[in-house]
Amino acid sequence: MTKTRRLLAALFATTVAASAYAYPDKTVTIVVPFAAGGPTDKVARDFAEAMRKPLGGTTIVVENVSGAGGTLGANKVAKAALDGHTLLLYHIGMSTSPSLYRNMPYKTLEDFEYLGMINEVPMTLIGHSTLPANNFAELTKWMADNKGKINLANAGLGAASHLCGLLFQQGMKTEMTTVPYKGTAPAMTDLLGGQVDLMCDQTTNTSTQIEAGKVKAYAVTTSKRLTTPALRNLPTMDEAGLKGFNVSIWHGLYAPKGTPKPVVDKINAALRDALKDAEFIKRQEALGAVIVTDSRVNPADHKKFVEAEIIKWGTAIKAAGQYAD
Ligand code: ASP
Repeated sequence: MTKTRRLLAALFATTVAASAYAYPDKTVTIVVPFAAGGPTDKVARDFAEAMRKPLGGTTIVVENVSGAGGTLGANKVAKAALDGHTLLLYHIGMSTSPSLYRNMPYKTLEDFEYLGMINEVPMTLIGHSTLPANNFAELTKWMADNKGKINLANAGLGAASHLCGLLFQQGMKTEMTTVPYKGTAPAMTDLLGGQVDLMCDQTTNTSTQIEAGKVKAYAVTTSKRLTTPALRNLPTMDEAGLKGFNVSIWHGLYAPKGTPKPVVDKINAALRDALKDAEFIKRQEALGAVIVTDSRVNPADHKKFVEAEIIKWGTAIKAAGQYAD
């Protein structure tokens, strides 16, 4: 946080205290740092609906600012006005990007108010519908027979699909040609069209395609099988042979650092209410996501959780020799 922003924050905090600031007093924007129609966007649009009532019926818009694994959108919010009207809904990329990007335009742990966690989302390994492999064992053989010819889509360095794809390639002891997109929504379009072969993506994007039989699904990335009807027959990566494979991603909510405490408290209270919204819970569960209800919804606990994730994924990313400029 720059000196000017620190001064602004101090000034704004005084104004807020003096005027018993009525937050929100205009449209709230939730920045999603990935393409529209993708898994994080789907979480955000359902979430925005659930947040509307606890925020007094205010209008909430979702803005997609995609690119660079989510860091472009995160940077926009890090530098936004300190009034709580511009929020960031980001995922595990919040914790992988500091290890992946040498020149981050913001400081992950210093430039945000941590508002709390929203949900956890498993991932699935999927392929184009005409791939000859119908299950994980056949996929393993097909991959061995086609070394050097297989494409794996992702949503850019630091994205969940990048991380999952990286661990998958490591586990399979192979390297594929990775094709980065601004989100897995455009990546899914190309996977459905057969321009790319495989993708590891969040169930909030894949479950409807799997259910409709539009893609081949090979495994889920969590250590346990999922209970969602569309996904319950899929083996775990561990069962399929990649012992210990366990990737589940999460989403959290953030405001620029220096947003006044009364505003942070109001957003956190609204977040807690939104996470109890029956329709939101139902819609997310149908897509394989699990709403968080424990202490991780606390700003301080969520920050501690992200700190631990930075260390955990930093170790895995360094071991895989991945860096970007
Ligand atoms: N969450 C990203 C999106 O919404 C995808 C990813 O992280 O892989 O497109």
